Amino acid sequence: MRDDLISYTKRLVDGQGRLTYSFTPGDILPSFKRKIKESIRYIDSRLGLDFKKVKYSRSSDIIIIGYGDLPQGSNGAAVWTDIRWEIRFPVRYYGDYIFRHEMGHVLGFDHVPMGSKSLMAPGWNGYTTFTRSDWRQLEAVWGTEV
Ligand SMILES: [Zn+2]
Repeated sequence: MRDDLISYTKRLVDGQGRLTYSFTPGDILPSFKRKIKESIRYIDSRLGLDFKKVKYSRSSDIIIIGYGDLPQGSNGAAVWTDIRWEIRFPVRYYGDYIFRHEMGHVLGFDHVPMGSKSLMAPGWNGYTTFTRSDWRQLEAVWGTEV
C-alpha cells in the first residue's frame, strides 16, 4: 500500500464514509457499466466505505472514462488529478478485472512484483479479483462493512 494514494482517497471520503462515482456520458458501453457497478457493489459490501453512483459531474470523486488519455499500449489507468480520481480505459468496453485492478490503486495499492498472489501486479498474472492477501490489506486501511 502507498500512503500518498491512501491519503488522496481519504481526502475524498465524506463524513458518511461515502465516495461518489460517475461515468462520462456515452463513453462506456452499458454492459461494461453493469460489470463495473457489480465490482463496486462487491467492494462496498466488504469494506467500511459506501460508494454512490451519481450523475456525471466533474465533482464526483471517481470518474470512469472510456477513450481516456493513456500511455501507448496501456490497458487502463487510475490517475489522481489533484481533486479526484479518473479511471481511464482505452476503449468503451474492457475487462472488468482491469477495472478492479484500477480500483485497487484508488484504494491505495501500488504495484506488486509479477509473481505475487495479488491482483496488483503490473501485468496479467492470472488473478481476476482481489486475493485474500489483497483483502487483508484493504480491510486494514478501510475497515470492514458492519
Ligand atoms: Zn496498475
